[in-house]
Amino acid sequence: MSDRPPITLVDLSAMGVELLSGVGPRKLEGLRTLGIESLLDLLTYYPRRYVDRTREARIQDLAEGEEALVLGRIGSVSSRRIRGGRVIVVAEVRDGSGSLRCTFFNQPWREKQLTGRSSAGVGPGDAGLEVAMFGRIEVFRGQRQMTNPIVDVIGDPKGGRTGRIVPIYPQSEKARLSTWELGEWSAQVLRRSRERGIDDPVPEDVLDRHDLVGRQDAYAGIHAPSSMAEEVVARRRLVFDELFRLQLALVRRKREIEAASLGIRHVVDDGDDRAAAPGLVARYLGGLPYDLTGAQARAIAEIRHDLAGPVPMHRLLQGDVGSGKTVVAMAALLTAVQGGHQGALMAPTEVLAEQHAVGVRDQLQDVTLTDGGDTLLGERPLGIALLTNRTPAAERRRTLAGLADGTVDIVIGTHALIQDAVEFRSLGVVVIDEQHRFGVEQRAALRDANADGTVPDVLVMTATPIPRTAAMTVYGDLDTTVLDELPPGRVPITTSWARTDEAEADAWQLVRDQVAAGGRAYVVCPLIEDSPKLEASSAEETYERLATGELQGLRLGLLHGRMKAPEKAEVMEGFRTGALDVLVATTVIEVGVDVPEATVMVVLDADRFGIAQLHQLRGRVGRSDAPSWCVLVAHGVLTPDGEERLEAMVRSTDGFELAEVDLELRGEGAVLGERQRGRSDLKLASLRHDRQWVEIARDEALALVGDGSGLDDHPRLVEELDVLLAPEEEDFLLKS
Ligand code: ADP
Ligand code: MG
Repeated sequence: MSDRPPITLVDLSAMGVELLSGVGPRKLEGLRTLGIESLLDLLTYYPRRYVDRTREARIQDLAEGEEALVLGRIGSVSSRRIRGGRVIVVAEVRDGSGSLRCTFFNQPWREKQLTGRSSAGVGPGDAGLEVAMFGRIEVFRGQRQMTNPIVDVIGDPKGGRTGRIVPIYPQSEKARLSTWELGEWSAQVLRRSRERGIDDPVPEDVLDRHDLVGRQDAYAGIHAPSSMAEEVVARRRLVFDELFRLQLALVRRKREIEAASLGIRHVVDDGDDRAAAPGLVARYLGGLPYDLTGAQARAIAEIRHDLAGPVPMHRLLQGDVGSGKTVVAMAALLTAVQGGHQGALMAPTEVLAEQHAVGVRDQLQDVTLTDGGDTLLGERPLGIALLTNRTPAAERRRTLAGLADGTVDIVIGTHALIQDAVEFRSLGVVVIDEQHRFGVEQRAALRDANADGTVPDVLVMTATPIPRTAAMTVYGDLDTTVLDELPPGRVPITTSWARTDEAEADAWQLVRDQVAAGGRAYVVCPLIEDSPKLEASSAEETYERLATGELQGLRLGLLHGRMKAPEKAEVMEGFRTGALDVLVATTVIEVGVDVPEATVMVVLDADRFGIAQLHQLRGRVGRSDAPSWCVLVAHGVLTPDGEERLEAMVRSTDGFELAEVDLELRGEGAVLGERQRGRSDLKLASLRHDRQWVEIARDEALALVGDGSGLDDHPRLVEELDVLLAPEEEDFLLKS
């Protein structure tokens, strides 16, 4: 050990790769195309996989039909053109025991790759390029061969590398760098930093608790493991580092927001003499025609606790479709009103905003407020307004005036609510329904301060279940409440997959039977991505076909995104009141629409929909104590993923379980969507495979940050957070 302090990741991030020996202008350019500029970039450019030389098979020992990894050198490479202009490349690979013929169809670039001509500095030399081939063994006329094997060019032209385990780095044709060179350079960084050692600012007790190795060993173990067991241990440490940094940043940001913003201490207690409307929440809950579920009661208690406190609430309410989130939202809004503030409910679509407005007016029509002596009797009805882009101008003016002077207590609307012209007298609670349709900027806009400097409490609701660990990462700056219980008496929805004409005919019969018995049905038309126009016309066709065919005699309505708003509202109203029996619709009905009498959901070409969407759609039925059905119609040959999706839907009605399947099938980027972008610090960690580490990192971050001052004792860790988290990451955190 030298007396100089250990080298930090921040130091490494400030040193350019041109410092390395063997990196000249051309290599520098190549590294740059891989996004590698600093020594830290290089150190965190991890191998994609490893070839374990002690475990590769000898060509001579391979049996037909076996899958095998073969390590050898390229003997000859040839290419020829066959009929139809297709190109076949044939390469011979030899190891000490024999030779293997590898045939590539339609991959003409293999010729260049395997002769070493595509990668500067990795010429075949005398011995030929070293490669690893993975594939199934075929035997033809006594000759072992593979067709379209997976190829890793190890590119060790000199045969000088003797390590048992060879790291294979992600390469690109453009970078013209070999995996060998990349490995060589990261080894150089490690060699050079060995004397000072790589700094490890993560507290020792944290490392001990989770049996994590030091950073120096971790970086060495991931780039040049001497066994695969060593790689596992190294990876674990680095995965933890990534997740820990992310969680520290999220928790820190959360604490900073809390410290910087002045919240409203809401009136949650009847005895509180600040109450403008004493007992309002209790009256509302007492007037419900049912008892709260345990989960609803817990959620309301948590929210009350947040609202009573001085720190603005920033909470995510996750609840599967039908779990009764609306009641929880109303309790939160009315808590604001009870204390003389206002509540705003923001829905993602006009249909939903209107539906909420109808429901809220219905439930609250008899509620009155004592009014600060402005009216003769000292009482006035609760002011409820709807504000969307199609609110007529005069009404809009009235509503805006009412929001400004405080006579509108609850406003329900779409994003029209966050336009500049909307001023509140005192906005106390904001509920954002179906969060996934809103961007973080929109959320931020609603959290703007009131005139007195206070900021409203925010409750975000989502019916898209997110696996727990994903929620911790994506919504790590929010507290979460989960409604994990459905109202009692719900009869499970029977889901079936109609894969034949007969099964589809049965589905239409089911619709007729249910309508005859007083039920209603949805028919969802095929999804046509990126073309609302085509989708609308296909919905029209379906409507025509059913009206004159399978569902002739029933009262059908049509709903799609290209209809005018009043038309849509009229159709929805008809379906809600029972003037229509069947609603033929596109996915405009996906979120939140609540018609308890609907007992059948038929989804056409169901394999085109994603799991989350199907789950949302299915949630439109099963909203009463009557049995209900969901029929997924999908004929013909489906993609394997399509089959898996439908099988999962038939098997399970649990949104969280389905979310896990979805994560498995689509990968986290796709599932998490927008918010996940810019998470560039996650190079190794996977929310799927490293679940337990997400939780550990979250817990440790919460413990370390504490009330916000915990990081003061760890300046080097803070420095690392500030430098290592990508700028877009910080941006994102600031906005949310
Ligand atoms: P979500 O928005 O979570 O999908 P909703 O709030 O729309 O669910 O509630 C679904 C249905 O369940 C509504 O018809 C609602 O009136 C009803 N409901 C809510 N809570 C309860 C409860 N505790 N007991 C019985 N029915 C309930
Ligand atoms: Mg809802």
